[in-house]
Amino acid sequence: MSDSVCIISHNNSEPSPLVEVEFQITDKRFKIYFKSDGNTFLFGNTEAFLACALLPSMKMGGGQILTKGEVSHKFLSSLSTIQDIYSTWQPSFKRAEIIAIPTRPNTPSSQKRVGAFFTGGVDSFYTFLKHHDEITDLIFAHGLDIKLKDTVLREKVSKKIHEIASEFGKNVIEIETNALELFDYYVNWGKLGHGAALAAIGHLLSSSFHRIYIPSSYTYSHLFPWGSHPILDPLWSSETLEFIHDGCEATRVEKVALLSKYDIALQSLRVCWTNPDSVYNCGKCEKCIRTMINLKINNALSRCTTFTEELDIKQVRKIVANTEGTRAFIQENLDALEKSNDDEKLRKALIYVLNKPEMPHLKQFRRKIKKHIKEIWKRIF
Ligand SMILES: [Zn+2]
Repeated sequence: MSDSVCIISHNNSEPSPLVEVEFQITDKRFKIYFKSDGNTFLFGNTEAFLACALLPSMKMGGGQILTKGEVSHKFLSSLSTIQDIYSTWQPSFKRAEIIAIPTRPNTPSSQKRVGAFFTGGVDSFYTFLKHHDEITDLIFAHGLDIKLKDTVLREKVSKKIHEIASEFGKNVIEIETNALELFDYYVNWGKLGHGAALAAIGHLLSSSFHRIYIPSSYTYSHLFPWGSHPILDPLWSSETLEFIHDGCEATRVEKVALLSKYDIALQSLRVCWTNPDSVYNCGKCEKCIRTMINLKINNALSRCTTFTEELDIKQVRKIVANTEGTRAFIQENLDALEKSNDDEKLRKALIYVLNKPEMPHLKQFRRKIKKHIKEIWKRIF
């Protein structure tokens, strides 16, 4: 048994727009906050804090997690399977022991609201449009895919999400958090961290919701270790709050086929993850390019006002498909193009991207640079 200890300290006895919690993991302390827009009260509960603490503790060798307060019996039982999954995905991670937590009685939820995490991207639009009769609230978390300091982009995205919600008569809940500081220090955000962070935010809202949808990234035919996953997300549920991982049945091309039926979606779609100068969609990064291809296949690119650039075949050929995820998305576009037998130049460019060899030394060089930048970042902050 590792002698690593994670101590969770907080003083959130009443629902409040601000929840603050401190995690002490061995000799390192993190002060994490979650802040709502003011109209929404957050419920600082043990489920949310354990969702944040679990991966850092496992990374540090397991040991013990010490916390106070009641926790859902169902949630606590599922932590064992969640740890099995993480340990399989990341064999160096060790199981943590959760100490001295009384379990809350098993009571059914009296809440009627249904939320969906929403960024304005393809996956979140698909899940929202598919379930819009049932969904009452769009939940937008600032500080995760948009950096906390990028308030310009946050404002643009927030305005768009409010417009979408207004069109469908829904509420918007905005949560701001610095939880990325904790996750980024210990784990890869995409491969492991982001699902646990969404689960934490969901539990902070558990006094309002009985169900929250988490839009899928990949289809059932392209599953691999990823922080939000159909086998993982439902396990974060409690007796009163159900998480549903939604959308694995549809490729990105199929998801875009649905959202391209809605003008508001084509006027609001946001996928960029580089966001130079707080731009909404750069039109040049891999994610922008592959989404523009999704739109083109669905004859919707010219109607999508959030992409101002033309689709450039030279940019398509520059894509480096060096991850399982990127390859899956390129393949989905290629499969759809081959069915439609349309646009030979684009089809050949995608085949080129999937087949071009990546120089092994470049791969190694890129890994070294990434590691170096991460170390410098940790030293500064
Ligand atoms: Zn971009």
